[in-house]
Amino acid sequence: MKTVYLDNNATTRVAPEVVEAMLPYFSDLYGNPSSMHTFGGQVGRAVAGAREQMAALLGARPEEILFTSCGTESDSTAILSALATQPDKKHIVTTRVEHPAVLALCQHLERRGYEITYLGVDFKGRLNPDEYAAALRGDTAIASVMFANNEVGNVYPIQQLAEIAREKGVLFHTDAVQAVGKIPMDMTTLPVDFLSLSGHKLHAPKGIGVLYIRKGTRFRPLLRGGHQERGRRAGTENVPYIIGLGMAAELAARNIDREQSHVALLRDRLEHGLVNAVPDAVVNGDTDSRLPNTSSIAFKYVEGEAILLMLDRLGICASSGSACTSGSLEPSHVLRAMGVPFTYAHGSVRLSLSRYTTAEEIDYVIREFPPVIERLRAISPFRGEQGGPAGSR
Ligand code: PLP
Repeated sequence: MKTVYLDNNATTRVAPEVVEAMLPYFSDLYGNPSSMHTFGGQVGRAVAGAREQMAALLGARPEEILFTSCGTESDSTAILSALATQPDKKHIVTTRVEHPAVLALCQHLERRGYEITYLGVDFKGRLNPDEYAAALRGDTAIASVMFANNEVGNVYPIQQLAEIAREKGVLFHTDAVQAVGKIPMDMTTLPVDFLSLSGHKLHAPKGIGVLYIRKGTRFRPLLRGGHQERGRRAGTENVPYIIGLGMAAELAARNIDREQSHVALLRDRLEHGLVNAVPDAVVNGDTDSRLPNTSSIAFKYVEGEAILLMLDRLGICASSGSACTSGSLEPSHVLRAMGVPFTYAHGSVRLSLSRYTTAEEIDYVIREFPPVIERLRAISPFRGEQGGPAGSR
């Protein structure tokens, strides 16, 4: 059975060009980039090349690129650095819809005596910039707001939010793990101090990330030891993955227009196809400001997990909007923050495309998906329950 992979916000296929670029660094080119000899030096130059490729994608300077092990490490490094360089500031501003990479860290810091403001969102998952501005205070060490949401795809007004932070003298971090490679960004005009990204969301391998640190930003490393990464992250570099990420950045820069046109068109065709074919199906999130590849659809009266199992039998990979907490299927923190009614939140499915998604795959899903919902609704225990104010969504 053919696999139709529509779970690209979870992880992406490693691009064949990326695999090819990495291979020599697993075999012949195994030198340590910090070595003084020519053999290591050629590897060091390759790492420098990858740094340039990544900087070019972001409109950054190569020395502003710090290679890390993943998006989670980048998020932690940025937030903990801001706290370490400003020890008398004990307040952080973030949102209720961040990825656990930011939320769990903030909850941990809260237990350690820091004060965290978690900004809420409206029914479409939108933030209120006035509420955000009012939350920034003299003792705020950092504001951390995601560039784009992994579940519903909302793209937040980072330009505006970062400008407000700068005016108020507050450091600004954005978790751009879902946004880099999907929407163009340019650090020469975007006034963020820190930006996190992760290789495996843009067709590089899992286990490699980047923290962009604007030149001049005070910084404290998370890992101490050797002098790798100009003393900002100790530990011998993951050379093959860095080379792979450099190539992935170059491919992303080349494909970003296609992401906006081809991928968004396929996503819209899929979304319209499903919403038109299935009654009581609504799109979650802010359709006016969304990633081009993401669609989160709520199907009333069915459970997301049941949908996923049936899609799996058809070879279709997707994600649900639930998190398995203490044995019960709770709607995700994002859908809860948006106030999505219970009977919709439970039946939410996230479909996320990539530049490898084809029109044939989308047509297959449009054909096979609606009967799945029909069959599940015929046996649904939720049928007849009142789902709350669905009209207000
Ligand atoms: N931030 C966001 C928005 C994500 O979607 C993810 C991964 O799903 C992460 C952070 C964590 O990235 P990583 O898996 O590289 O640690």
